Amino acid sequence: MIIKSGIAVSPGIAIGPALLFGVRSFRIPQRFVAVDAVDGEVTRLRLAIQTVAKSIEQSQESASRQLGSEYAAIFGAHLMMVQDPKLLGEVETLIRTKCFSPEFACSRVFRNYARSLQNLGNAYMAERAADVLDLEKRVMNALLGESRRDLSNLSHPAVILAHNLTPSETASLDRKNVLGFATEGGGRTSHTAILAGALELPAVVGVGSFLSDVSVDDVVIIDGSNGKVVIDPDEATLAGYRFVLSQQKSESHRLASLNSGAATTLDGVRIQVMGNIEFPQEVQHCIERGADGIGLYRTEFLYIGADHSPSEEEQFNSYRAVVAACNDRPVVIRTLDLGADKIPGGDSIFHTNAENPALGLRSIRLSLRYISLFKTQLRGILRAGCGGRVKIMFPLITSLLELRQAKLILRDVMDDLAEERIAFSRDVQVGMMVEVPAAALQARIFAKEVDFFSIGTNDLIQYALAVDRSDPNVAALYSSADPAILTLLKMTVDAAREQGIPVTICGQMSSDLRFIPLLIGLGVRTLSVTPFAIAEVRDLIRHLSVSQAEEIAEHALTLDLARDVDNYLRGELQRIYPEKQ
Ligand code: PEP
Ligand code: MG
Repeated sequence: MIIKSGIAVSPGIAIGPALLFGVRSFRIPQRFVAVDAVDGEVTRLRLAIQTVAKSIEQSQESASRQLGSEYAAIFGAHLMMVQDPKLLGEVETLIRTKCFSPEFACSRVFRNYARSLQNLGNAYMAERAADVLDLEKRVMNALLGESRRDLSNLSHPAVILAHNLTPSETASLDRKNVLGFATEGGGRTSHTAILAGALELPAVVGVGSFLSDVSVDDVVIIDGSNGKVVIDPDEATLAGYRFVLSQQKSESHRLASLNSGAATTLDGVRIQVMGNIEFPQEVQHCIERGADGIGLYRTEFLYIGADHSPSEEEQFNSYRAVVAACNDRPVVIRTLDLGADKIPGGDSIFHTNAENPALGLRSIRLSLRYISLFKTQLRGILRAGCGGRVKIMFPLITSLLELRQAKLILRDVMDDLAEERIAFSRDVQVGMMVEVPAAALQARIFAKEVDFFSIGTNDLIQYALAVDRSDPNVAALYSSADPAILTLLKMTVDAAREQGIPVTICGQMSSDLRFIPLLIGLGVRTLSVTPFAIAEVRDLIRHLSVSQAEEIAEHALTLDLARDVDNYLRGELQRIYPEKQ
């Protein structure tokens, strides 16, 4: 049994066979197979070799078609090598005589072969060693892994283990069969992590190197609540986790029973608890858990999950479905926030080679660059506004000119729709995300030009602390409790209150119970949280008074270290909401 730790990003327990996905490099543990399994293992090896040979043939054909036969010859040499009876004979002998696993036997034989080519002292032959190692990788992929696109359609339930999953790969996971996932890379508020929450899949990211310790079909436990990955668990551990799994089911029943009635503090202040969604199907989860509406609809997932740019009609249909399901509850539709780590699959204008994509052409900057794309989306949103209470929100606003330009385009779109006599909602409220430190610093000025603010703490923290939200190497530096963050939050909330506009917190910080008293104490009255957190956040609010929350915020603001803020808030939460412990 091997236990690894990472960042817990989506709660719950998943137990199932491992499926290794896009394995980047291999360090095969010395694994043996039982004597009576040898024949089966040899068959597995032969099938893997056939798969590799087939894929080399395909590469050969396409190289020949596109580049000419001289380039295809490279693949001809690979094909001969992977089918070389002497090489395969050596691998099979190791499996049969020493009971090596095919992975270990292949690795031994291929690496020995590469080493002897390297030692010939001939530059040409040394280069062939790289080909052998490439072949080793292909055979390992066939033995251990599964090709990337297959994740949307698995043949059986499995736990996905990967070096990294992109948001588009995560969005296309087979929801019926994927039990949970763990990745070597990724950070707490990476979009892959946020999607895990949306899909309600237990997930751990930022585990660091662990894939080489796992073989396909090993039983793996993902503990998404405590950030643990257990590989090949012993019986006692397995039984323990199965027990926790059954307890969780009763905890979710307890929370489900708490959903009736408003989220009101002990001293009678009503707090709106809204849901964050990426897909229209999530609205139902939010409503069932008692959400007061949708506080953040991340519309870029219409692009991320699709193989083409969605048309006005497709967008309108998705927005209308969300608005209808909300049944007169407010829906905040955020315009496209593509870029940085949110890039759709396939070829598209959104792909970038920028060195710092988080600081590049992302989000509202992209919408303002591609105005017809932006207008198409705004038309879809305004038309959907007829069916309910839609609000429009612009992401990543940094300067006032940017905001004014976006509002101007919105007005243009309204004029076009009116001219075309297409029904739309003219009185939609227009708000902006405060997620760039510049916007928080200038909040007093911005507050005069929008109907509402929504603070995106995920990006605000990334940009204020200069910590990539997706990079596990700096995950320990990414802290919601940093005094600088508290100061930016206070500035923004004070500016909104002065100007009399509402302010929501829609970053992951508002889904973390520890921060709820602080946020309410700062003056926030609307929280937009990840669907699985809605019931618990509402329950906590009922255990809290605003005066108590104000004292907590006041004291937290006097602390100089993130660590002290964190410990203080943890202690207060324990006092206020012992149910959670
Ligand atoms: C945020 O940055 O806090 C936010 C809510 O937006 P996203 O996570 O989609 O960048
Ligand atoms: Mg953001």
